[in-house]
Amino acid sequence: MEDKKLNIDELIKQCRDETHKLTEQLQNEKVVEFTDYSMDDLKVVDFSEDFSTIDAQSQEERNLAQEEIKADSDEKLSAEEIDELNKLEAELEDEEEQEVTNVKQLVDYSNNPTIIDFENVTMRYNKVDKLIEGLNLKIHEGEFIYLVGPSGAGKSTLSRLIYRDVNNVGGTVWVDGINATRLKPHDLHKLRKKIGVIFQDYKLLPDLTIYQNVKYTLDVIGYPKKKKDEQVLKTLEKVGIKDQKDKYPNELSGGQQQRAAIARAIVNEPKIIVADEPTGNLDVKNADIVMKILERIHKSGTTVIMATHDTKIVNKYKHRTLKIEAGGIKGENKQGGYIYE
Ligand code: ADP
Repeated sequence: MEDKKLNIDELIKQCRDETHKLTEQLQNEKVVEFTDYSMDDLKVVDFSEDFSTIDAQSQEERNLAQEEIKADSDEKLSAEEIDELNKLEAELEDEEEQEVTNVKQLVDYSNNPTIIDFENVTMRYNKVDKLIEGLNLKIHEGEFIYLVGPSGAGKSTLSRLIYRDVNNVGGTVWVDGINATRLKPHDLHKLRKKIGVIFQDYKLLPDLTIYQNVKYTLDVIGYPKKKKDEQVLKTLEKVGIKDQKDKYPNELSGGQQQRAAIARAIVNEPKIIVADEPTGNLDVKNADIVMKILERIHKSGTTVIMATHDTKIVNKYKHRTLKIEAGGIKGENKQGGYIYE
């Protein structure tokens, strides 16, 4: 009996040793953090700020964990919202099926005219450090481009250069024939008319209804008065939130707010859409809907530039992908798909 007990004690000791070894190994790989090496205290570390050090497999694991969190948040949607999402999703999926032949092979846009041209661009946020130096990049009409890379890499800054939302810029950013870097403030509207911008946090005006938020774009650009109402309603219908038009942003779910923000960005039918982490605040289902809407916008001929670090989306909806790091282009995948290294 005593012998058996000793053997079991020995076994438990071996198990503990193995667990220690494994936990140390996992900690070194920055996958998980254990408190006091107890399996009960296992906790997943949020290492979103440290993307660059994680290998592809770890990122996949992280995606799965994120998906679970997002799936939980799906449960918070009302039955009405789920119905609405399912309807829109079915509609978008039908369109996708019709396009299936185009999906397999990425279209080559390199023979299309250049619509955005970064020529030897340099940019700094303060007087000392240059974030971007000698950047050259051509984006062709009708392309869909992902800017991927770790947090702080410069994805937002590149996006902001396109709609001239940053200063201290050297070189030239051409946007559909306009020199965006040298544009006088009173001419900015000429540039902004060509570009619809979508943000991670929607940036809807809280004191205006959804209808008014979308109409605001048309007011600013002097759209013909008689056609405004029809154009706003048509656009809200395209993104599946016409029924919500008289509500204020804070009465809508995140997914609905982002679709309102997309409506605001596309209502004047701009040639270019710049989307900065448009799915960053959304659960899986709403992120998917947003992507399907962006795909639809792209298929209608609009050039789309999307900054994201959502590997799952980049791998699902494939487009030319540029890896941004330290303010420069550190890799390109013409066939689409996330660039991990
Ligand atoms: P990303 O979109 O890839 O997360 P950003 O373009 O937002 O990267 O930021 C790139 C770098 O520029 C970061 O180091 C960030 O801290 C810095 N930065 C961004 N915006 C500003 C700003 N307004 N003033 C000073 N530094 C900034």
